[in-house]
Amino acid sequence: MAPDPTARTLVVGAGQAGISLVTALRELGDTQPVVLVGDEPEPPYERPPLSKTYLRGEHDRASLIFHDAAWFADLGVELVTGDAVATVGRDASGGVATTASGRTLAFDRLALTTGAVNRVLPVEGAALDGVHSVRTLGDADRLAPRLRSARRVVVVGGGFIGLEIAAGARALGADVTVVEATDRLLGRAVTPVLSEAVRAAHERRGTRVLLETTAVRLTGERGGVTGVELADGTTLPAEVVVVGIGAVPRTDLAEQLGLLVEARGIVVDEHARTSDGVTVAAGDCTVGPNPFDCGEAGLVRLESVPHASDQARTAAATLAGHRTAYDRVPWFWSDQGDLRLQMAGLPQGADQTVVRGDVTTERFSLLSYRSGRLIAVESVGSPTDYLAVKRALEKGMSMDADAAADTSVPLKRLITRVRDTDPA
Ligand SMILES: Cc1cc2nc3c(=O)[nH]c(=O)nc-3n(C[C@H](O)[C@H](O)[C@H](O)COP(=O)(O)OP(=O)(O)OC[C@H]3O[C@@H](n4cnc5c(N)ncnc54)[C@H](O)[C@@H]3O)c2cc1C
Repeated sequence: MAPDPTARTLVVGAGQAGISLVTALRELGDTQPVVLVGDEPEPPYERPPLSKTYLRGEHDRASLIFHDAAWFADLGVELVTGDAVATVGRDASGGVATTASGRTLAFDRLALTTGAVNRVLPVEGAALDGVHSVRTLGDADRLAPRLRSARRVVVVGGGFIGLEIAAGARALGADVTVVEATDRLLGRAVTPVLSEAVRAAHERRGTRVLLETTAVRLTGERGGVTGVELADGTTLPAEVVVVGIGAVPRTDLAEQLGLLVEARGIVVDEHARTSDGVTVAAGDCTVGPNPFDCGEAGLVRLESVPHASDQARTAAATLAGHRTAYDRVPWFWSDQGDLRLQMAGLPQGADQTVVRGDVTTERFSLLSYRSGRLIAVESVGSPTDYLAVKRALEKGMSMDADAAADTSVPLKRLITRVRDTDPA
């Protein structure tokens, strides 16, 4: 049978997962025409620098963009920017989407890589001028000049993005306060030991960190923000307020398709397939089986560049008719000024944490264990230790917990099989 000339793949969302998916399709030898639709004005670009070097003026705009128009044309990918897919419907063999500008896009294969939007601070004053959050290049372009001139900055939310922006604002000379509602920084993602080390590191650099503190209102004058009112009635004066309180997955199209969706995202399986068995989804918009066997059951939501790229590669393989399960060890990094955090594995189920190095020197690693088995590493300023543990985790290996605390022994010498005492 001759190939259907109208057959094409529609990828909705031109971010990290979208670009990884179309690249992987071509690497797999898939030649079907692809349309990649993004609602932002720019071609796909790197998000991590937005809260780090780009905000501080150390990264030029053009270098954030992954590829130019010629690259997409060479790949046989039609890139549509500045237009959102507004409606979508499908059956088992294909479907039709329409965009906000009125384009109709027929497809036979569909991928959703729609990412997430930043959560809005649910208090009075959140829409005042001077209140920012960063997800897009446009957001960073708006914030960067304000940070450079601000004397007092309050960051609401002590997660990765909030702390990265806080470190940047402090390095630019502002008086910075981080307001965090829970009792520790980075509480959803890291061990308590790292939370405390990160708090101390920010305070050493002059940033004030207020834990168990809630912003109840943003105060303003003539439409501009003037401060953050806290639950205890005090107000922190600020010309700039940055909100970093997490992100909400963009699931509206999945809901239109009647796919299984929960609050944490579009539910996918290990092949990045959604509940209809044919539409795939990848990246920040998804929740799926833990790709890392660390004894944690249930679905996980991972928000990182490596996850978006790896899961998108799995989604591409599924679309191309291969069946490769997504089974990578999660890893992540966060540059908070001159403080570099590197993490691999998932420490949430840990029952033992080994401290390797001196936490106060900002050069240490924390190794997490569950029932004697290594499940995660968190390193600060220790890339060699980080890499040794990441490689061990990737090979399904472990390390003796008592020996790992001894910094005179290189970690790579301690790698052992799980439940085995013989060095590998
Ligand atoms: C400021 C910041 C700093 C970060 N730093 C790090 C870091 O240091 N390390 C790390 O590992 N990760 C970091 N991340 C996380 C990482 O960038 C994300 O996990 C990753 O970008 C997710 O990729 P994605 O493709 O799922 O989503 P995105 O990259 O967000 O892309 C989704 C795209 O889809 C578009 N879209 C959504 N709906 C539609 C529609 N209906 N029609 C058309 N387009 C649509 C969105 O506008 C967006 O452009 C950071 C994220 C941010 C925001």
